[in-house]
Amino acid sequence: MNIVELVKSAGVVGAGGAGFPTHIKLDCKAAVVIANGAECEPLLRVDQTLMQVHADRIVSGMEAAMTAVGAKLGVIATKSHYHEAVQTLKRAIGDKKHTRLHLMKSYYPAGDEKSLIYDITERVVPSGKLPLDVNCVVVNVATLSNIADAMEGKPVTDKFVTIGGDVAKPVTLCVPIGAPIKPLLKLAGFEGSDQDYALIIGGPCMGHLEENWNAPVTKTTGGILVFKRSHPLIVQQTMPLERQAKLAQAVCCQCSQCTQLCPRNALGLNVQPHKVMRAAAMGDAKLIGDVNGLLACSSCGLCTNYACNFGLQPSAMMTEFKTKLLNAGVRPKPEERIVTDSALSLKRVPTSRLIARMGLSEYDVPAPLSHEQIQTKRVMIPLLMHAGKPAEPAVTVGDTVNRGDLIGTIPEKALGAAVHASISGTVVKIARGCIEIKA
Ligand code: SF4
Ligand code: SF4
Repeated sequence: MNIVELVKSAGVVGAGGAGFPTHIKLDCKAAVVIANGAECEPLLRVDQTLMQVHADRIVSGMEAAMTAVGAKLGVIATKSHYHEAVQTLKRAIGDKKHTRLHLMKSYYPAGDEKSLIYDITERVVPSGKLPLDVNCVVVNVATLSNIADAMEGKPVTDKFVTIGGDVAKPVTLCVPIGAPIKPLLKLAGFEGSDQDYALIIGGPCMGHLEENWNAPVTKTTGGILVFKRSHPLIVQQTMPLERQAKLAQAVCCQCSQCTQLCPRNALGLNVQPHKVMRAAAMGDAKLIGDVNGLLACSSCGLCTNYACNFGLQPSAMMTEFKTKLLNAGVRPKPEERIVTDSALSLKRVPTSRLIARMGLSEYDVPAPLSHEQIQTKRVMIPLLMHAGKPAEPAVTVGDTVNRGDLIGTIPEKALGAAVHASISGTVVKIARGCIEIKA
């Protein structure tokens, strides 16, 4: 099998959040492969940990990815203050001529794909276009580690996750995919209940609230965070959209600070959240401004979590309008000219200031890797952990499976990813889009 086929068989998907099937991403020609190890979401430590303990796997995954796409250059981008990770990566790269490190300061969102590409190549990916349109492929460092495993015939069965927030001992764990979240919280010393605490899957800026505490860990879960329901972050995230629109009407003074600090606007993509707030306040969608700009919003949340002095949520409004436009079939038009802000680097928001602004400073602590083997007697493995169509079950109830066995296949001619058993045991249920295995 060639590299792309091996990656496909192993069920590798983008581990950084989007879950795009990696075999599709690698089935192209590109000049540069960029490894995203920026991990800009506050409180998450997964990529940093991986770069410390699996630098060799990441570099070897990079070589495979470069070979697959025919790239002449591989760049591993990470933060300069991740000292241990930087040292282990330097050792792993050694004297390889075509792979190098790109060290960044700690700002948010350093890991945004378009910002990262601009930082490394000075090329801007236009609205609605892909990194490939500027001859680049961007892959998360965890995905590269999975690619290295795929080269040895090992499928994706586990995921590194950080358990953090309002827990006694934040920790980073390697967890079988499909393991329920609730018992993992105990390993971080959490004793609270869902009455008083809210659960966020992902990071505090781009993650989502999860009401089901027994939801399974998936191939894209990077963070599991808990906060008191009274924490401003949770109050903000649970606020109904109608109330946000009323607040926009009553409070938004059109100062345009949200637009001035928007990282995608600084790239020259004409993202204008203040205009969308005006449209929401006036109840008039014609006021949203440049549609291409709106569709280029990355939902990074910086406008909400940092820029607006009145606690308004322009990012939520951007997402609302963007979704409506996309559902109506609106797509970006080719950009005529992209002019990047000459003050782009001066506008970058230091992560420490964002963390302070979000009331997260007390939770910004190490989450060291635990080498404890996670024992789980039951997993619920979703058939959809990726972009595209759900996998089709390749097993039936009563089947005995071994860890690593194929249990879900890609539907014919569809975008999707294969799914594998993360523990050995018996298939006890196939329902609601999941395959349940008991050890
Ligand atoms: S949402 Fe906030 S930052 Fe943006 S224009 Fe309104 S008041 Fe200013
Ligand atoms: S979420 Fe806000 S800051 Fe981020 S890209 Fe969208 S408009 Fe810009």
